[in-house]
Amino acid sequence: MNGADRCFTGDGMMAADDARRALIEAAVPLTEFERVHLTAALGRVLASDVTSPLDVPGHDNSAMDGYAVRAADTGEGGALLPVSQRIAAGHPGGPLAPGTAARIFTGAPMPEGADAVVMQEEVEVDGERIRIGRRVESGENVRPRANDVARGDVVLRAGERLRPQMIGLLASLGIPEVEVVRRLRVALLNTGDEIIEPGLPLAEGQIYNSNRYTLTAALQQLGCEVVDPGPVEDTLEATRAALREAAAQADLVVTSGGVSVGEEDHIRAAVEAEGELALWRVRMKPGKPLAFGRVGDTPFIGLPGNPVSVFVTLCLFGVPFIRIAEGRRVAFPEPMRARLAHAVEKPLKRREFIRVRLEHQADDLPRAVPFPRQGSDVLSSTVWADGILEIPEGMTYPEGTALNFWSFESLLQ
Ligand code: AMP
Ligand code: MG
Repeated sequence: MNGADRCFTGDGMMAADDARRALIEAAVPLTEFERVHLTAALGRVLASDVTSPLDVPGHDNSAMDGYAVRAADTGEGGALLPVSQRIAAGHPGGPLAPGTAARIFTGAPMPEGADAVVMQEEVEVDGERIRIGRRVESGENVRPRANDVARGDVVLRAGERLRPQMIGLLASLGIPEVEVVRRLRVALLNTGDEIIEPGLPLAEGQIYNSNRYTLTAALQQLGCEVVDPGPVEDTLEATRAALREAAAQADLVVTSGGVSVGEEDHIRAAVEAEGELALWRVRMKPGKPLAFGRVGDTPFIGLPGNPVSVFVTLCLFGVPFIRIAEGRRVAFPEPMRARLAHAVEKPLKRREFIRVRLEHQADDLPRAVPFPRQGSDVLSSTVWADGILEIPEGMTYPEGTALNFWSFESLLQ
């Protein structure tokens, strides 16, 4: 947190990139690991590099249904070769007698001596013999040993989050279990006396608690275990007690709401009493207030209350911290580029992260079309949009300017 102080400028606000960097630097990777079977490994973070114990495939094999031959035996075309054996996948044959062909099927091991496979569509069968109309080159339709992976190759690195294709690759190497990082336990607290749970009737002045559900789902998608003791009453004592209890049970405490300076905002005072707080005003829209610190020894991230701000600040600041704490190698995804569909004629005071949909264009970057209502309370904008476009402050931009875009998918994986 200390280094972050240097990032403030004259207006007392911190640049969004500096805030992210400070959070990433403060995150400490979990060092508790567990072994899981491949069937339970999806979305888990690898704790150590995986080295292949074998060559895959383990032998040269046929890429086609056809006939294995010595290419030299096919001459300049028109060769007539007797079929000396039949080799199916899982049933290796013997060495190939010179001047003969072996009937062979996809994936079956090449017989010793053969160096090419002729597709069955290309031969004429004549009783026990085949005629090959053309000259065949050595290596045709043969998948060489270790074509996919060689023994000793590092196939996956520590810090990778396991995707289905990675799990398949591990299985292809004969590896049944992997060592993964324990799930990060995140305690979630929602503040606000006006919020009420879906399913209950809404009284005058109440709104449904959406942040709890947005955050729970996002954290689950990130592979976290969510601890949720329920919403917190807007009093200092209740907030302090809830924070203490949350910190005792979790690796990270995340709150929504109550971080501004209103009389009903108790997060600030409660965290100061229970630990240490840095309240950052980040030069961005939506968002702005972002709290960070610790409750006891447990790291704490205080997100704003407005539903869009919650979602965007979680994506841009919470997730990078969480990824590092989960033991992942990459904290934040690389942006794509997309073209502004409108002009920004007056320089912005704060960096804007607008919800946009991408329109694909032939032979050009996609166009980023903004949702018409960009208010921080307009949650439907996050459903309509594909992701967020970053419009840096301090400059004007003609329509068509290429800027950074992140899909929600890339931010929340
Ligand atoms: P606050 O920072 O607590 O002043 O909250 C800012 C705005 O976000 C207010 O309009 C709150 O009603 C709204 N808000 C706070 N928490 C939630 C929540 N859990 N779900 C939906 N809206 C919320
Ligand atoms: Mg509030």
